Formats: sequence, C-alpha cells, structure tokens
Amino acid sequence: MAPTPVASTIDVAGARPRPLIDPFARAITYLRVSVTDRCDFRCVYCMSEHMSFLPKADLLSLEELDRLCSAFVAKGVNKLRLTGGEPLVRRGIMTLVASLSRHLKSGALKELTLTTNGSQLEKYAAELKGHGVERINVSLDTLDPDKFRAITRWGDLGKVMSGIDAAQAAGLQVKINAVALKGVNEDEIAGLMDWAHGRGMDLTVIEVMPLGEIGEDRLDQYLPLSMVRARLSERYTLDDIDYQTGGPARYVRVKETGGRLGFITPMTHNFCESCNRVRITCTGTLYMCLGQEDAADLRAPLRASESNDLVNAAIDDAITRKPKGHDFVIDRRQHRPALSRHMSVTGG
Ligand code: SAM
Ligand code: SF4
Repeated sequence: MAPTPVASTIDVAGARPRPLIDPFARAITYLRVSVTDRCDFRCVYCMSEHMSFLPKADLLSLEELDRLCSAFVAKGVNKLRLTGGEPLVRRGIMTLVASLSRHLKSGALKELTLTTNGSQLEKYAAELKGHGVERINVSLDTLDPDKFRAITRWGDLGKVMSGIDAAQAAGLQVKINAVALKGVNEDEIAGLMDWAHGRGMDLTVIEVMPLGEIGEDRLDQYLPLSMVRARLSERYTLDDIDYQTGGPARYVRVKETGGRLGFITPMTHNFCESCNRVRITCTGTLYMCLGQEDAADLRAPLRASESNDLVNAAIDDAITRKPKGHDFVIDRRQHRPALSRHMSVTGG
C-alpha cells in the first residue's frame, strides 16, 4: 500500500486545509510567533549589548502576521503564543491581538497567549484580558533590583512588578519563567518560588540554551536543573505531578507552598518526542525546531499572492521536514553557540 502523504494542502472536498502532521506522526497544534526582534532589555543570556536589529522593512506587517497566523489556525493550530524580542514593544500590537481574538470567539483557537518581560504590562494587561487572553508568561530571573538591572543590562524591576500587579488585578493568570544562571540567581530560586507561589503564580525554571553570540561564555552561565532540584529538595518536598500546559515543562507540586514548579531542561533532558510546535519569526521565517537551522521562508509566498494557496503549500512542505529533535551541546572545546541565531529572533 502506498504511504499516506503527510500534511497535504487541501482535503478531498477542497474545503478545509488538512491538519499538520509531521513525519514522526506529531500533530502540530501550537504556533509561537515572534512579532519583533527588538526589546527594551538586553538580557545577558539572550542578547549582546550592541545588537543590530532588522530593518523595519523586512518585518511582516501586522496584517501579514495576522494572515499567516490565521493560515496556521485553519490548519489546526489551536494555541498561539506571541513572543519576541519583547512582543509588547511592537507598535500596534494590540491591533493584532484584537484581530486574532476572532479565532478564540469562533472556537478555532483554544488559547491566545504571550511571553513578555513585563515592562509594558501595566499599560496593556486590562486590554489583553479584554481580548480573551487568559494566561501569560512573565520572565523574571531575580527579585533583587540591582541584580535585575545587571541581568537585563538596564531593566527596571519596579516597572515589571507593577506590570505583574496589573496583570493579576486584570484577572490574568501569570506564570513566572526564570532562567537558572550559575553564580547569578542560583541561590535565589527558592526565594523566587516562595514569592511566586505566595502570589498564586506557578514558577518554571529554564536551563540556559546555547543560542546566539552574546559576548559571554555560556559555560559561565550554565547551571543544570538537576542541581537546582537537588538543592530545593533539601528544604522542600517536591512531588512529581502529571500537570501539562502543552509545553515542555515537567512539573512538581511543592508540599510546603502548595504551588507548582516546572523544569524546562533542554540541555539535560530531551523532550522532543512530544513536540507539537513550530515557530515563525517576525520576517515570516518558519523554524520547525528551536534547536535546528532548517527553516522555510513564508514571506515570499505570502506576498506573492493574495490567495493562501502558495503559503499553505510552503507550510505543508516545511512540516514534512520537521526534524525528530534538537541536539544542543555546550562544549568545552567548541565555545561557539550551538546555533548562531538569538532566542529573540526565533522567539522563546
Ligand atoms: N521578551 C520576552 C521575555 O523575555 O519573556 C519574550 C521573548 S524571550 C526570548 C522568551 C524567553 O526566552 C524568556 O523567558 C527568556 O528568559 C528566554 N531565553 C532567552 N534566551 C535564552 C537562552 N539563551 N536560554 C534559555 N532561555 C532563554
Ligand atoms: Fe528581551 Fe526577553 Fe531577550 Fe530579555 S529574554 S533580552 S526581555 S527578548
């Protein structure tokens, strides 16, 4: 029997684009969209101090971003995460959120969400909630204002705190993401957890990944989460739980706080088997895997025709090339990053 073709554009009746199934039978239902490569911070693990950003003309317009996201939604994507760079510094971002919220109303999207550094949340939290956003991730690696300024190179912790207050006041569920950094915040993880859980927020800790030249040595930053967990276990009871958010985090329930703690361990644990996601950059490049170079340009087919036939075909073709997994290495001999592009390009 001939193999069933994967991810063809249109079903037999020609009505709806078929769902996206990759060569390893994983259904692609989660799209992360970087709406800008710019940011108002320069976190030391994410960007170098002097970044050169893309010329504005290269970016997809908000209308094009909407069209591209909607093409994925028509193909079965039911979770959309806006990210960046800092998504809330993209001019007119609320127009895009408002427009994409129609897919929540139609039921095609189960979730529209974003990952943010929180600096602009005070301004936007209520509006986000008004457009149907229920949960957001806020990245925060320390509660110490001086350390915060050092990690982000010039960020203001007070502004982020006001943003988190505003988000919770607006009824948004907030999850805190912290990158574990050797010698920087490793002694603070317990404090961050107590603080987050005390405010009813989950905390997820993330291993630093080798993405992009940042002008610092990755080995100096890398802290395996197995160590973080071992240290926390000396003071807290961590019970493994089955909780899933559709992401790669493995969760525990912390008996003493009652809160949830997630671990994202790309470096020490391979979570690719259940990968359901792809990423697009603000220039319309589709990355099938955060940890691999292979990519597909969707901007050209998007701009070449008003119909979505070309872009749908390009998406289908790309999904047939989704790799089985990533192979990050932080290697002592090879000090270069495993991938030359920054997290702020692909979207974290
Ligand atoms: N600016 C937003 C923010 O900081 O939340 C969204 C984009 S940022 C690239 C998304 C996430 O990626 C953040 O939680 C950040 O801490 C994380 N991140 C950035 N560079 C990383 C790296 N090299 N390794 C691990 N996580 C990284
Ligand atoms: Fe900006 Fe987020 Fe990267 Fe920090 S992690 S520099 S806030 S994009």
